[in-house]
Amino acid sequence: MAAVCMLWQTSPAATELETKMIDWLRQAFGLPDGFKGCIQDTASTATLAAVLVMRERALGFTGNTAGLFGAQRLRVYCSPEAHSSIDRAIWFSGIGADNLVRIPIKGPLRGADPEALRALIQADIAAGMKPAGIIGNVGATGVGATDPIGALAAIAREFDLYFHVDAAWAGTAMICPELRHLWAGIEGADSIVINPHKWLGAQQHCTAHFVRDPSTLTRTLAARPDYLHTLGQDEVVNYSEWGIPLGREFRALKLWFLLRAYGLEALRAMIRNHIAWSRALCEKLRATPGFEIVSDPAYSLFSFRYLGKSGANVDDLNLALVESINADGRIYLTQTRVDGAVAIRFQVGQFECTEADVMSAYPVITEIVARL
Ligand SMILES: *Cc1c(COP(=O)(O)O)cnc(C)c1O
Repeated sequence: MAAVCMLWQTSPAATELETKMIDWLRQAFGLPDGFKGCIQDTASTATLAAVLVMRERALGFTGNTAGLFGAQRLRVYCSPEAHSSIDRAIWFSGIGADNLVRIPIKGPLRGADPEALRALIQADIAAGMKPAGIIGNVGATGVGATDPIGALAAIAREFDLYFHVDAAWAGTAMICPELRHLWAGIEGADSIVINPHKWLGAQQHCTAHFVRDPSTLTRTLAARPDYLHTLGQDEVVNYSEWGIPLGREFRALKLWFLLRAYGLEALRAMIRNHIAWSRALCEKLRATPGFEIVSDPAYSLFSFRYLGKSGANVDDLNLALVESINADGRIYLTQTRVDGAVAIRFQVGQFECTEADVMSAYPVITEIVARL
């Protein structure tokens, strides 16, 4: 249980099981043969690793030695719906928030507009800047925004950019083949992050980071001082070279136990139930006077707001509603903003929750609204 998984030599079993579990997951998500990967602690560090690869690839792998001073100005593109871990990766990589370019979104999935992205890239090139990478969303946190992954992958190929996909939460849904149309074209990604420690039910610190070409990761991240050389073992994989930390846990066990104990079919049933229950609750609220559905169910997440009497400040009303619901304590909801206006998020994802748990939200919400 206290395995030290920095190198193959320090824990061969953990390394071998990690390789195996990543491949089980690869198959479970329907990713093509050829994707490799490792289990990182969090999506935040996997995304940082991917952004560092973007930087180094764009600089011809000179950033680690020469630094960014005097280098061509790099540009990375993502939608305004992207998770804050992407902003932070851009800060920490030295690329700088001013060079994270927001792609306009469109359509019911609030996905990045590929034509607008192409225009942004062309304008940056014309201005003497160096596009480095694109980051796509599959189920962003606010309301589950999902980009047209195939179209973004094609643009990444066209301009030779590194393409990272953040599917930290909703990627888990791809164990269900009928949902994979939502990330059609994913085989064109260079890097994909999915958190089994969220919706799949694994313990915290279990992030699957898939990559098409691990050598770009190791070229960016691996350091080999003498004391880390495993003499005579050049053929083995050292997963610490695929991420930021040197020391690592035996995370593969979390997946091995989960998959062996429950099985993929039971996990699929859980995901399908969560989605169906979330939709049922959404329809109930939609049919209730005074409520408005702000974003239709994306995976198991939708958002709504209560409109109140005319003249009411709807943002203030909904912030007060969330606060009262959470103070009540029976259910817990969070807020976001959609096109600038407050919306209340309803998300189903707890491993053991039941239909009755989800439906119990309806009387709670309506009862508290009546008291407001
Ligand atoms: C949760 C989440 C993250 C961050 O995940 P950590 O593992 O906590 O770093 C990033 N992106 C999305 C879309 C998420 O839902």
